[in-house]
Amino acid sequence: MIPSASPTDQGPETPTCSAKGCREPAEWVLAWNNPKLHTPERRKTWLACEAHREHLSKFLGARGFLKDTVPLAEWESASDG
Ligand SMILES: [Zn+2]
Repeated sequence: MIPSASPTDQGPETPTCSAKGCREPAEWVLAWNNPKLHTPERRKTWLACEAHREHLSKFLGARGFLKDTVPLAEWESASDG
């Protein structure tokens, strides 16, 4: 087994967790919106692994930004068309 040393440049998309320093594959999508910066229908997304889902959702939830937490597979199928 050779660990992939190169950063994701052109390779297949393997979304990773948005938590700082985390390289785990993402399993969750946190959809959020900052009403001071974004129009109401705008959605920013953070990706989270299982371990960071709660941490990130609390961070967004505490600010009133969190709109939705969706499994990545579901999010991708929903946003596909
Ligand atoms: Zn993580």
